Amino acid sequence: MKVVGLTGGIGSGKSTVSNHLREMGVPVFDADREAHTAVEKGSPGLDKAVKIFGPRCLLPNGELNRVWVADQVFHNEDLMAAYGGMVQDEVRRRAFDFMGRMQHSDNTMSVLDVPLLIECGWHEFVDLVWLVAVDPEEQVRRTMLRDHATEEQVRARIAAQMSLEEKKKYADLIIDNSKTPEHTCRQVNNAVSRLEKLAAEAKKGRASQRIIIAE
Ligand code: ADP
Repeated sequence: MKVVGLTGGIGSGKSTVSNHLREMGVPVFDADREAHTAVEKGSPGLDKAVKIFGPRCLLPNGELNRVWVADQVFHNEDLMAAYGGMVQDEVRRRAFDFMGRMQHSDNTMSVLDVPLLIECGWHEFVDLVWLVAVDPEEQVRRTMLRDHATEEQVRARIAAQMSLEEKKKYADLIIDNSKTPEHTCRQVNNAVSRLEKLAAEAKKGRASQRIIIAE
């Protein structure tokens, strides 16, 4: 079972690829979604948030006041580090649970979909890194369209991330998303087929070894 770390800069098409993988039946761990649920009501993450901010961070219904928290961390670097680190730890714990479950499943592959996979050092936890890449001008255009953001806002967000060239150094596979979604999905299908073929060959190898041992 191979764990693939899927990453890509903002607006590169990572979610598009991750949705396609899910449609193919590949189990996908969505780090952004997990970061959201990591502090939902009843979670250990919410208890830790209360330890950081005090009970003021809770809404009357006991849920986290996410707007209030965002405002606090925006204005205080220490709180940002404490809260961001706590959420990252919670998500990492969930990611390890996911990978543990996957190791005991029949799946050939599973995916960790993590926007900042390399920046956070998570590429160390996975077997392969798949990077979704798009040329920077198209990345700006698509992100502006999707987020109804100005060019300046998008360029600032891209500049805050590791550059595409730097990310490429860590990638085992670069998925080119500069053309049509169909072109992108074909690359994903081919990569999944290659992994399935390798897994089938490895299984056959193990089976023939068992026969030899049995003889
Ligand atoms: P990310 O998850 O990397 O931020 P998305 O998958 O959300 O990026 O893609 C950014 C935007 O570009 C979305 O609106 C998406 O529908 C669009 N998009 C993705 N791939 C393509 C493509 N090959 N051609 C045109 N638009 C695309």
